[in-house]
Amino acid sequence: MKRTDFTFREFILLMLTGSGIVAVLPFTFIRFINGEWLLFTLDTGLIFGLAGLSLYVIKTHDHRIASIAVCLLCQVAIVGTIYIAGIAQLYWMYPAVVIAYYLLRPSEAIITNLLAIAIISPQLFDALNVLSLTTVYATLTVTIAFSYAFSYVTEQQRRQVQELAAQDPLTGAGNRRALRQRLTELVDSHQRNPISVSIMLIDLDHFKRINDDFGHAVGDDTLIGVVALLKQRLRTTDRIYRFGGEEFVIVAENAGAAFATTLAEELRALVGVAQLNKGESTDDWLKRADVALYNAKNDGRNQTVCAPILSTKDGGKVTDLTASQRPA
Ligand code: GH3
Ligand code: MG
Ligand code: MG
Repeated sequence: MKRTDFTFREFILLMLTGSGIVAVLPFTFIRFINGEWLLFTLDTGLIFGLAGLSLYVIKTHDHRIASIAVCLLCQVAIVGTIYIAGIAQLYWMYPAVVIAYYLLRPSEAIITNLLAIAIISPQLFDALNVLSLTTVYATLTVTIAFSYAFSYVTEQQRRQVQELAAQDPLTGAGNRRALRQRLTELVDSHQRNPISVSIMLIDLDHFKRINDDFGHAVGDDTLIGVVALLKQRLRTTDRIYRFGGEEFVIVAENAGAAFATTLAEELRALVGVAQLNKGESTDDWLKRADVALYNAKNDGRNQTVCAPILSTKDGGKVTDLTASQRPA
């Protein structure tokens, strides 16, 4: 499917290139009329460069490369203009300093800015007295420091929001939105490069009974425990998502149907079974499920092991009623 919409970053980039072209255009005419050919060439080059990079973003959606190129192009053009046309062009440095933080990562932007200022410094020292020099460096420092802080905080918040928007708050598994996004990406990339990838849909049997018999909180703990257990067994490339209430999807990359089926069978065996005993704490209950799981593993996997059930007739003595039940 062909993408026609723009992401937030692509939009910012196109706004910057567009406004840059509009801002520089009058100067190309002035340079042309004045016969200032070096500056005319620089301004024209900048306009064509920005226009070319806009088309590149529209066509490829590769905003990262385009952003770096736009930033470097602007800085080079401004430094060049200050050297050719003189210190009055210093005004351009201020928007360029701020724009760098929209285009690059905060650390990259600060390095680029300091480098550009270092390059124009000989010009500044030649042209300005101490008071003016102090003013320029003080105002640039404030602009850089504030832009850096602002963009750093914004970047942190963006990451946090992105993480929260993709996560199921109860279990920490990916949510449906993240699942849909990942599946779309996989389907897209599969068309170009067909690698084997499988999904497993997992449904917990009779989960409603846990809620009905022991309460919602225990049901919640069970969901959290199941996800933690499944994550332990998954490979680093596998991802788990909460599909619905007690349904989960595992996306296993580089896994054909046969491998995924084996993995699914192993995961099933990982879920040890333990029925809650009367008066038992959540921790103890989970612990018994853990023991049952350990037994399932030790007994050759691919089986369901039920933890001992307390027999009330024995006065609470633990009786092993169903040690191991091999599924049909
Ligand atoms: P089956 O074996 O046929 O799959 O039945 P089931 O009981 O596992 O599934 P069903 O679809 O009948 O019920 C799912 C239950 O999951 C009902 C709902 O209350 C419970 N549930 C969904 N989300 C949560 C949650 O976040 N926490 C808890 N504790 N329960 C939840
Ligand atoms: Mg279900
Ligand atoms: Mg179910």
